[in-house]
Amino acid sequence: GPADFGLGSWPARRARISPGRPALVRDGRTLTHAGLADRVDRLAGALTRLGVRPGDRVAYLGVNDISVFETLFATARRGAVFVPLNYRLSGAEIRYMLEDSGASVLVHSPDADDLLAAAAPLPETLRHVVATNPASCPADGLDFEAELAAAGPAPETAVRLEDPCLLLYTSGTTGRPKAAVLTHGNLTWNTVNQLAHLDVLSTDKALCIAPLFHCVGLGQITLPTLFKGGSVEPVAKFDPGAILGRIGEAGITSFSAVPTMLEMMCRHESWDDTDLSSLTCVLYGGSPVAERVARAWLDRGVKLLQGYGMTEAAPGVTMATHDGTLDHPVAAGVPHFFTDVAALGPDLAPAPLGAEPAELLVRGPHVFGGYWDRPEESAASFVEDEWFRTGDVVRVEEDGWAHVVDRVKDLIISGGENVYPAEIEAVAARLDEVDSCAVVGVPDERWGEAGAAFVVLRPGARLDAAAFRAHLERHLARYKIPKHVQFTETLPRNATGKIRRVELRALATATFSNGPA
Ligand code: ATP
Ligand code: MG
Repeated sequence: GPADFGLGSWPARRARISPGRPALVRDGRTLTHAGLADRVDRLAGALTRLGVRPGDRVAYLGVNDISVFETLFATARRGAVFVPLNYRLSGAEIRYMLEDSGASVLVHSPDADDLLAAAAPLPETLRHVVATNPASCPADGLDFEAELAAAGPAPETAVRLEDPCLLLYTSGTTGRPKAAVLTHGNLTWNTVNQLAHLDVLSTDKALCIAPLFHCVGLGQITLPTLFKGGSVEPVAKFDPGAILGRIGEAGITSFSAVPTMLEMMCRHESWDDTDLSSLTCVLYGGSPVAERVARAWLDRGVKLLQGYGMTEAAPGVTMATHDGTLDHPVAAGVPHFFTDVAALGPDLAPAPLGAEPAELLVRGPHVFGGYWDRPEESAASFVEDEWFRTGDVVRVEEDGWAHVVDRVKDLIISGGENVYPAEIEAVAARLDEVDSCAVVGVPDERWGEAGAAFVVLRPGARLDAAAFRAHLERHLARYKIPKHVQFTETLPRNATGKIRRVELRALATATFSNGPA
């Protein structure tokens, strides 16, 4: 038959090596690697019957589940493109993504029924809606299991590593989410990079708690573990107590998280009594972590490794090392094996990266080729056609470890000085009274821009603006101290816990700005 070394061939290739080993586990159900290969083959056959051709898009809407993996691999096996959607979005946003991606099939789990109803009217390009649970199958919809049972094996399809495999939407932190086109090759090289860095074994049991529509959930540990022949347990809902319980009970070896998850777990009442001894590595990334949170995990003897990356890089760019994490508890580690990094030079050319903060450029076989249907933005995001502009300010210390300073777009220029909100937020987080803090820039007559800090206190904690400022003044230069301080109940966050700064900036500007609009 034709050559297929793409993601869709992984289950069958893995089944030749370790057919009887568990691949996916959820709620007492275990699917072995051979079982997964069989279901993927039939689901690819079912997608073919539904008219899916190579290059078509198949979307998924729902919480983490075995069926997400089945649909991903089956879509890839058909040579089509998988589009996992964020179930925390609004109906209008889901409709936009279905339109934007032009998906012809949507698979959804029962928890997404209401959201799907809110997304109506669905675009005409969407020809079939398939429910993973027959109970929530609409009258004109299709049932996943019935389709799978009725289908024959998939037709053999040629898949090249440079073919698109995944349309993965960015988090939408700096604007509207953009769909990065990730090829089979991008995802394979990311997997190779992660495995070159991590001690993943075929006996590993990874918990998949970060959402699978996000690059941290899919790329950091999940795909590498399946590739290596280990098992993955998708978790539908993040409940810190339940997850701590599951780690001890199931002997979980690894998981990927976003920093807010790590924080909720180490603050949970059962934290001290949880047996964490089975964990061989815990990965996280996506936004900065507070030092006290990292310390809480490291002090328990857990190998906590920070990863830095982005959807466009599938996602890993740098990662902490097993040997170095204790000495660098909040640093982003060293570049991956097949990854080159550089600084954006003054003439928009790659330059050496050093101790001076600079915008990071990244190059490697895991880096995407462009966004879906956005030729101008795609072209603008590369320099010299091969270096992706990350939009992140990074510095590298003499020992080669990278530190993510902040996003270029979040930089505040106050009185001609560069102020990085992340630095102020990290200092603020050292106060016991502070739950979280976000600093944004507002127009200012005198300074051009001034900082505005939004501060959420821990329940029952007391702190006033003067005491808050006094703490910052002890650790930071005067020009970095926010001019405005506002205490608030919560900070607006997106599905992966990132602060929605666009919203905060608008609020701060409306509240504090005295400068030119
Ligand atoms: P959008 O591109 O739509 O504005 P986004 O950049 O938040 O959203 P993602 O691809 O999910 O979308 O996130 C990647 C970004 O997350 C990086 O560019 C960086 O700003 C931030 N990030 C990732 N890892 C880390 C880390 N370890 N420390 C600090 N920031 C990180
Ligand atoms: Mg981004």
